[in-house]
Amino acid sequence: MNKKPFVTKEKIQEIMKEYPTPFHIYDEKGIRQNADNLRKAFSWNKGFKEYFAVKATPNPFLINILREYGCGCDCSSKTELMMAKTIGAVGDEIMFSSNDTPADEFKYCNDLGGIINLDDITHIDVVEKACGKLPKKMSCRYNPGGIFKISNGIMDNPGDAKYGMTTEQIFEAFKIMKEKGVEEFGIHSFLCSNTVTNEYYPMLAKVLFELAVELKNKLDVNIKFINLSGGVGIPYTPDQEPNDIFVIGEGVHKVYDEVLVPAGMDDVAIYTELGRFMMGPYGALITEAINEKHTHKEYVGVDACAVNLMRPAIYGAYHHITVLGKENEPCEYKYDVTGSLCENCDKFAVDRMLPKIEMGDILYIHDAGAHGYSMGYNYNGKLKSAEILLCEDGSAKLIRRAETPKDYFATFDCFDFYDELIKE
Ligand SMILES: *Cc1c(COP(=O)(O)O)cnc(C)c1O
Repeated sequence: MNKKPFVTKEKIQEIMKEYPTPFHIYDEKGIRQNADNLRKAFSWNKGFKEYFAVKATPNPFLINILREYGCGCDCSSKTELMMAKTIGAVGDEIMFSSNDTPADEFKYCNDLGGIINLDDITHIDVVEKACGKLPKKMSCRYNPGGIFKISNGIMDNPGDAKYGMTTEQIFEAFKIMKEKGVEEFGIHSFLCSNTVTNEYYPMLAKVLFELAVELKNKLDVNIKFINLSGGVGIPYTPDQEPNDIFVIGEGVHKVYDEVLVPAGMDDVAIYTELGRFMMGPYGALITEAINEKHTHKEYVGVDACAVNLMRPAIYGAYHHITVLGKENEPCEYKYDVTGSLCENCDKFAVDRMLPKIEMGDILYIHDAGAHGYSMGYNYNGKLKSAEILLCEDGSAKLIRRAETPKDYFATFDCFDFYDELIKE
């Protein structure tokens, strides 16, 4: 697949007159089209709902676009819940899929009416204590253990993952929860991350649907929803075929008809908690080449760093790079594209073949729309960038300003040297 930027060099140059690089830019049109497709792909299921994984792209403007397509919020911390609340996503619009959860966050979620998705059996008591009694509707996260394999070789190792309950525990948990007054149940599981295959969701669905039938038959519990969580991935590299959400939706439909319908469970709602799939391709990091260095290797230094996008630094993840305006030039030069952190892993690309890069060239780093800005940190005193929305009408709208030194020093505001610090 030929990976193409969703914005032209001319448009970026225009935006740069107002907002200096580096910044993240998001494509409203792409976000809308994709959200609409997801909704259509699962329209066969009456209760279908996507709970957008807030951690992927925690920006109220972007989440509000998804809200127009029926999306709720999947949160895992108090601040994420606060954001959901602020944009009016409360009650059943919240899925709280947290782990290692502090008791007061369960209470906060419950006060908002959100659905608590328990990561562990020991949390039944914690929730009961924190909330006074168990909510009427609750969910449990399942981890079957072992290795999860798909035919194209993609797999993950749930047996090594900290999340979820064992088979034995989820049966026990449902039994206890029913005794304690829970009336409506959900099942959740997240077994593989960033799967670029149409097979993952249907295979996961089969595991969860069969579990649901067993839980219902053995414990006579009312299973209201099955949450396939996240994990539907995107093609970061040009050689990968993107997932087809319609094929995925039909794949889940088929398993639904094979497993749930014959068991008399034809009213179970399907939920998803996609993050990467909803936003990843529709965000890019825009950065300018500001230094070149010719030593043992050829380096291009840009004005962004791992603070703006840390997936390459922490996972060695591939992010495609387009030099804007040089889309059609041959990629004949081999570069390491680096940021300025005092960390050798701060490289957006290693040994990447690119067109000849001149200082002042603008680099478009693809697929930074999810787990991009949000993962950033402030190492080396680097400041986080602005987020800009490229609106459907072609205009650019600031949806988060860039950090200033004042933001960086804000937590010293209770000390007497603070005024000196922010004098600049
Ligand atoms: C991270 C996460 C997601 C989203 O994962 P993606 O890979 O972005 O789709 C969904 N649910 C939970 C519980 C998560 O932790």
